Amino acid sequence: MSIVTFRNVGKTFGSRPVLQDVSLDIEEGQVAALIGPSGAGKSTLLRCVNQLERHSAGEISVDGLVIGTHTRSRDLTALRRRVGMVFQSFNLWPHLSALENVMIGPTSILKTPLSQARRQAEHLLDQVGLAAHMAKYPGQLSGGQQQRVAIARALAMEPRVMLFDEATSALDPEMVQEVLGVMERLAAAGTTMLVVTHEMSFARRVADRIIFMADGQIVEDAMPEDFFSAPREARSRAFLERAH
Ligand code: ADP
Ligand code: MG
Repeated sequence: MSIVTFRNVGKTFGSRPVLQDVSLDIEEGQVAALIGPSGAGKSTLLRCVNQLERHSAGEISVDGLVIGTHTRSRDLTALRRRVGMVFQSFNLWPHLSALENVMIGPTSILKTPLSQARRQAEHLLDQVGLAAHMAKYPGQLSGGQQQRVAIARALAMEPRVMLFDEATSALDPEMVQEVLGVMERLAAAGTTMLVVTHEMSFARRVADRIIFMADGQIVEDAMPEDFFSAPREARSRAFLERAH
């Protein structure tokens, strides 16, 4: 079953097209790595999934909820509950502990009872390896630890799909692996994931599918082994040569 569908989606900023005729089906449990040069439209595509950017043409659907170009805000709220997103910057609340950062969405938006939200948050923080740090504030945590709190915070809303936009790009090199490790475990647990990344070895090992974008279009959509060992398109080959 498809969880995320794009049908002929376009996006323009002013007169500038940044997504052109993008069609895509992401299946339940699938991990798709979105790769491509800077400015290709990867972030815009991801942000259209939860409508942080409204698309200008075509149709997007997430878990059966169809989003056109003029969808009402009530439907956008429903949409955003289905989608978790992790950004390059962690955006945690500085005045809340790690535990409170993970609890705040469920208690304030989903109206989850406090005791249940606390148990769930403790479980999620344990899963991302932060059992010993739950009471700490973001300022007391490393970048890698903060990003793992951000992942737990997104998971606490029980999304149908998780979006990662260069989740490790702002981290010091020694912290990249701990975050990729959490993402790899999520993938192995069957989470549907759309991952924009520059980590080619992670994409090759963890993704079910590589979506290569350039100039606002999907240039190649292939199995990782095929994409990395025998890219079909000249632009894919050029990108991979530069990435090495
Ligand atoms: P990527 O994530 O692949 O680097 P983006 O989706 O961020 O690419 O950007 C695609 C294109 O859209 C770029 O040319 C970028 O400058 C432009 N763009 C992105 N966001 C905006 C915006 N809010 N306003 C105007 N142009 C934008
Ligand atoms: Mg980007």
